[in-house]
Parts: sequence; structure tokens; C-alpha cells
Amino acid sequence: MNVCDSDMLDSVFLAYGASKVNNLSEADVVILNTCSVRVQSEQKAFSYLGRVKEFKQKKTCIKIVVIGCMAERLGHNIKKRFNSVDLIIGAKDIDNAALRIMNLFCTNYSAKKVNPEIKSEIVRYVTIMRGCDNYCSYCTVPFVRGREISINYETIVNKCSSMVKNGAREIILLGQNVNSYQYEDINFASLIKKIVTIENLERIRFITNHPKDLSDDLVKIMATEPKVCSHIHLPMQSASDKILKAMNRKYSYEHYLKLIKKLRTAVPSVSVTTDIIVGFPGETNEDFENTLKAVKTIRFGGLYVFRYSPRPNTTAAAMIDDVPFEEKKRRHAIILKESNKISIEIVSEMLGSIQQVLVEEIKNGIIKARTRTGRKVFAEGRKEYVGKHINVNIKEAKINSLFGDIV
Ligand code: SF4
Repeated sequence: MNVCDSDMLDSVFLAYGASKVNNLSEADVVILNTCSVRVQSEQKAFSYLGRVKEFKQKKTCIKIVVIGCMAERLGHNIKKRFNSVDLIIGAKDIDNAALRIMNLFCTNYSAKKVNPEIKSEIVRYVTIMRGCDNYCSYCTVPFVRGREISINYETIVNKCSSMVKNGAREIILLGQNVNSYQYEDINFASLIKKIVTIENLERIRFITNHPKDLSDDLVKIMATEPKVCSHIHLPMQSASDKILKAMNRKYSYEHYLKLIKKLRTAVPSVSVTTDIIVGFPGETNEDFENTLKAVKTIRFGGLYVFRYSPRPNTTAAAMIDDVPFEEKKRRHAIILKESNKISIEIVSEMLGSIQQVLVEEIKNGIIKARTRTGRKVFAEGRKEYVGKHINVNIKEAKINSLFGDIV
């Protein structure tokens, strides 16, 4: 979501005549787009602010702007800690951020209306909804991004069409819970049905999904519509029903497992990836072992595992954070090790196979492409392949990347 927001800001700045530079010494303004999902993200942002503060002592005219979720959550407390910061713009006001930042330099910008530049990249993100209504007990998103709002489907389809006209071949639809998209009588499956009709669009992906809302209609469209990729990110978080209840996830492990079976029956090639939190308050060793067993049973295509950290205002923050840090680290390492082992087994099975990939870019004669399941593939290639589907014979497999020869 932050990548998409930064991308959107980039486009507006380009339209205002600004340009992106690669180092602080050339910059007039530094914009730090922040995340509040984990405590580590905020710590990283603070440490970066410390570094730019030192830089500002040398180049006093540079403006420092903090935007996004941490700006929403901490507001002017950030300025109290770093008086070098010139402007704070919270996540809920992100649509006006570019104009407010330009006004730091010249107030005339308030009168200017610009059409954002449309970048000619093969893979583009499109936000279809903002905010979240789910209030998972550990999550700060509903507080910093606000209640769930679905964007008008016509705006979304027009945006996708413009991107495709400008060269995009794959669109990634974004929302905190895309499965609950609803604008008038258009739900998520019907939105996809509209987007697949865009000529020259090759692929659609979407993130992220909530197991309580994944519909049969969506499973059906994944099975029948060739443009929809065989990949779904379906955060499980835990396989202990006690912990899922404490997390306010509103599904059981059995329900989650049924969804996996349904997806794999309908789309046999589907790759399911997930998120897991270890060390949630009250997670016993037995709860953790259930999650580990689920990881072994389901064999995810990949997973992100997080050590629980309490986030202010959330329900879980009032619970006793009773799993010691060392134990969280141990559980984290065990899940990661198991996941890596499974990933190696999955990619090893691809050795010698021919994979159809969509080429995203080329650098130094090496193309970067992706399979329909979302795996990165590299091969020697030519510029003409960018934006096209090609076949690659897989010769080498690593956890996160495959290497091969174009056939
Ligand atoms: S679904 Fe839960 S975890 Fe995801 S953004 Fe909403 S509250 Fe947070």
C-alpha cells in the first residue's frame, strides 16, 4: 500500500514539474512515507529522521516531510522529537499530500490542477479501497487508515485502462481486504470481471485477502479467467482457534483449511502464501506447535512470519504480552526454517520444467520476469521481450528466484 501511495505521489510531483533525485545533496525536499504496522517500522523511520536531521544542519534549506501511518498515529509528537521536520501529513490525508508539499515552496500551487503522469511500467498497483473495518486485535490499520471505503469501480477501471494504454501488462489490485470490496452493486469478483475485459492487459493479481470474506465467486473467477494469476495471499496468522479468537480474526483453522482445499481443487496450480504472527499474548507452546503443524500440512508457496509486538490503541495492547522475546525469536526462527525448507522443495520440483513468464524489465542483458504463481525468474534476454509472455526452461532454483534459458 505504501509503495502504491509513494508511486501515486511520484506521478503528481512529476506533473508539477518536480523530479526524483538519488541523493540528499541534490534534494529540495525529503518525503518519508511511514508504516505503523510493526514497532520496527517506526524505529527505522525515527532512525532515518535522525540521519536527515544531521544532514539538515549542513543544508538548512532542505524540507523534511513525514507522511503515512506513523504521521497519522503520532502527528505533531514527531515534530516535538525532531524539530527539523517541516510538515506532517497523515495517511488519511494522503490524496492532498502532493499539493501540501508543493505549497512549502510556492503557494501558487493551490490554484494548479494537474493530471498525474502515467508511468510506463509493466506492473502497476491500483488501490481499490482504503482503510479497514475488521479491527483484528493486534492491528493498528483501522486507527491510522480509517474505516473501509471502496473506490468507485468506474474510476478503477479507467485508471487500469490508462495504465495499460501506457504500457502496463499486469495490474495488482490493492486493499487491506479486497474481498470485501463493494461499490453499489459491484463486489470484488464483479470488479475483476470488468477489468479482465481491458484489451492488452495480460495479468491481474490482488492483495490482500481475509479468510472470512473469500467468496466462491472469486475462487470461480480464479479458476476460469486466464488473466487472473494462480496466486493468492491468504493471511492465516495462527492455526490455534484460541489465538485466532483472541486476534478477532473471525474464522477457525478448520475454515481456513477448507478454503485451501477449495482453492486447490478449483485451481490446482495455485500458490498460496500467508502471514503468521508468533508470540501473540497467551500463545502457549501447544498453540505454536499447531501453527507449525499447519505450515507443514498446507505447504505454503511462501510466508511472512512476524514476532508479535503490541501496537498502541489496539485491543491486544491491553493483553499481557506474556511470551518472552527470546521465545518469540525461537518460534520465529522455527517457522522460517520450515518455510524455507518447503520453498526449496517446491522450487526444486520446477527444475527442468518450462515456465511461461511475463517479462517485467531487463537490466544488463538479464530479464526479470514472473511466473503466474508469482515466482521471480531471471534469464538472458533482449529488450523486445519486456511486456511479453515467454517460455523459460528452469535450470537453477533458489528460495526466492529461478534462473533459466529462454526457449
Ligand atoms: S484485516 Fe485485520 S490485519 Fe488486515 S488491515 Fe484489517 S484489521 Fe489489520
